[in-house]
Amino acid sequence: MSRVVVIGKGPAGISAALYTVRAGIETIVIGKDGGALEKADKIENYYGFPEAVDAKTLISNGIEQAQKLGVKIVSDEVVGIGFKEKLNVITKESEYDADCIIIATGSSRSSPKIKGLAEFEGKGVSYCAVCDAFFYRGKDVAVIGDGEYAFHEAKELLPTSKSVTILSNGKDFSSEPPMGAKTIKTEIAALEGDTVLKKVVFKDGSELEVAGVFVAVGVASSSDLAKKIGAQTEGARIVVDENMSTGVPGVFAAGDCTGGLLQIAKAVSDGAKAGTQAVKYIRKQN
Ligand SMILES: Cc1cc2nc3c(=O)[nH]c(=O)nc-3n(C[C@H](O)[C@H](O)[C@H](O)COP(=O)(O)OP(=O)(O)OC[C@H]3O[C@@H](n4cnc5c(N)ncnc54)[C@H](O)[C@@H]3O)c2cc1C
Repeated sequence: MSRVVVIGKGPAGISAALYTVRAGIETIVIGKDGGALEKADKIENYYGFPEAVDAKTLISNGIEQAQKLGVKIVSDEVVGIGFKEKLNVITKESEYDADCIIIATGSSRSSPKIKGLAEFEGKGVSYCAVCDAFFYRGKDVAVIGDGEYAFHEAKELLPTSKSVTILSNGKDFSSEPPMGAKTIKTEIAALEGDTVLKKVVFKDGSELEVAGVFVAVGVASSSDLAKKIGAQTEGARIVVDENMSTGVPGVFAAGDCTGGLLQIAKAVSDGAKAGTQAVKYIRKQN
């Protein structure tokens, strides 16, 4: 049976899932939390609610509706996507193959405020291990982050780099870092170099010489995931065509992660389009 994996259980992801499951396609929605709506209070501008609706009710109603139609909702964090025999989604807890992936991960992006980080982007600072590990083979690299996403990026780098050090930037690690990676918990003061990055300087005055720093703070953002599979991004936005296709066969994106109007109405519309296009794509393959 064909399978769609939707990443994100906000309005865009759930809307997409309603279309794919009703077309008879196995649909799994993986989401970490309630997304942007979880931070909202009352919603007064969404169609069909004469009285302001509580944002959290809107989330739980959408999830209940999808579950009633047969969508499997999984609470988990996606740390990577790629290709094996099929498309492949890697989470903290598990791994899923898919005929289609719909990225609906909202607009948040966690970039730490560290002196020099923006300056060395593309000159030693990267946001994607699977994309850029090759450039740092045989060299010392660091990963900034304290959770599963950082550990995943470190694991990508370990086989090809001389050394991998995970920098938690003053935080405690959320769990046990991967074997083979070194760790430093001290807060970072700055990234320094000349035309390219040379070292990380810590607030206690110590230094770590590195050729590359991979940023993997918090949860993998929409553009982090898109880059891993070769989809085009513009800043934090995933570039899609009028059918919500990323240009990578079988990979669609919907909602806030594609930019434009950051509103529920647009997220739901994008999700509906991505869902119907995913159905068309799968039927063409079969
Ligand atoms: C304070 C506030 C008030 C707002 N008020 C309004 C309003 O009045 N009207 C309106 O129309 N809009 C409002 N919005 C905007 C609206 O909430 C968003 O436009 C809408 O939620 C976007 O839907 P989405 O599905 O694209 O993303 P989101 O709702 O953000 O959902 C993203 C999903 O992706 C998941 N996710 C992200 N990364 C990962 C990962 N690595 N692994 C697994 N899951 C992941 C998240 O957990 C979440 O489930 C408001 C937003 C905020 C923050």
